[in-house]
Amino acid sequence: MRHADVVIVGAGQGGAQAAIALRQQGFEGSVMIVGREAELPYTRPPLSKGYLAREESFERLLLSSRQAWADRNVTLILGESVVAVDSHTHCVELAGGEALRYGKLIWSAGGEPRKLNCPGSGLYGVFSLRTRADADALLAALDAGARRAVIVGGGFIGLEAAAQLRKLGVAVTLLETLPRVLARVAGPELAAFFAAEHRSHGVDLRTGVALESIQGENGRVVGARLGDGTMLPADLVIVGIGILPCVHPLRAAGAQGENGVDVDEFCRTSLADIHAIGDCAAHVNAFSHGARIRLESIQNANGMATVAARAICGTPLPYTATPWFWSGQYDLKLQTIGLSMGYDQSVVRGNPAARSFSLIYLRQERVVALDCVNAARDYTQGRRLVEARASIALQALADTTIALKELA
Ligand code: FAD
Repeated sequence: MRHADVVIVGAGQGGAQAAIALRQQGFEGSVMIVGREAELPYTRPPLSKGYLAREESFERLLLSSRQAWADRNVTLILGESVVAVDSHTHCVELAGGEALRYGKLIWSAGGEPRKLNCPGSGLYGVFSLRTRADADALLAALDAGARRAVIVGGGFIGLEAAAQLRKLGVAVTLLETLPRVLARVAGPELAAFFAAEHRSHGVDLRTGVALESIQGENGRVVGARLGDGTMLPADLVIVGIGILPCVHPLRAAGAQGENGVDVDEFCRTSLADIHAIGDCAAHVNAFSHGARIRLESIQNANGMATVAARAICGTPLPYTATPWFWSGQYDLKLQTIGLSMGYDQSVVRGNPAARSFSLIYLRQERVVALDCVNAARDYTQGRRLVEARASIALQALADTTIALKELA
């Protein structure tokens, strides 16, 4: 039976970074990464940005070259899934039947895109956008002449995909069930701003609408039918309605958790010698006011990877990093610092009409987060306000003649 001192499940952002961090921390034991995708570990954000626009090659997305993995002495087992975990014998079982023994296990398996639960969801032309294979399938449909897209879901992935498809000249209708886009992640002012931007770029953006079914002919998408009977002709449908954490084998082994798998501040699960990190790790974030949450971001995957690596190396540091995130749509760069969840006041700093402004969120009169649109300085300087949980008058925050660093 093959054995590694550390087996990492998932060759994505967190898994790759965990292996890199172990070596950076001086870990000399054997490290193995098992990943379901056939690709070398790569970073996903460009899949809905530059890669979709064909502005970035796949090679640019790789987190390390094959040679660099060999130089780090990290064994990659790609195109293989872990299907079972036995925490008593310290073994994982692969779909191909092989068993691997581990000293420590790092679970970094991310999530699967949620699927539509309506008639027609299995037709050719219905795509998710999570993996390189998803993006390539979508690009192939565009190459084959698809020119009308329906995007289901007004979160970041749906909005970013809409922006890229518009750049490519594709007609886009975007459907959001809730009354506004970005409802789970940002305030109404930001949502209204992005909705207006998309409309001005020709996106037919519809909120408060329900998709009833996807229509097909000869197994291919030809349209989408809404709850009110409206029929939208379409050559392809992109589904961006969130992810379900990939934790089944871990949960079946007894790990605690309801939404993903629960971890403590050192990314330890309830099972001995098993850490979990990244999108699937439910944790009490230093900025979540005691709530157990999952964060789906590069910052979180990388940050937790380092925390798990340090814990394994015997130099533990709790996970206290400040959450940050970014999104690119058209010529707009959104940068977020902190977590706006649970905010009770917000103030706009700058002029949305000038396409450079920030939305600052407060909770109990303390700054908890900023969403900065084409406002890099606010983002950089606002970090200090978030980290200090600064208490500052709304009027001062809104006053663009005062730099945020002067308020810190
Ligand atoms: P992943 O990177 O998803 O890696 C998990 C890997 O585990 C996958 O390869 C999966 O196939 C594999 N796996 C699953 N189950 C098993 C199993 N049983 N056995 C073996 N392997 C398994 N974040 C930002 O901060 N900014 C952005 O702009 C941004 N844009 C994004 C755009 C897109 C299109 C997507 C999909 C994500 C984006 N994200 C962005 C989110 C970010 O990419 C994720 O938060 C990050 O990749 C999470 O890392 P992870 O290691 O938890 O999961």
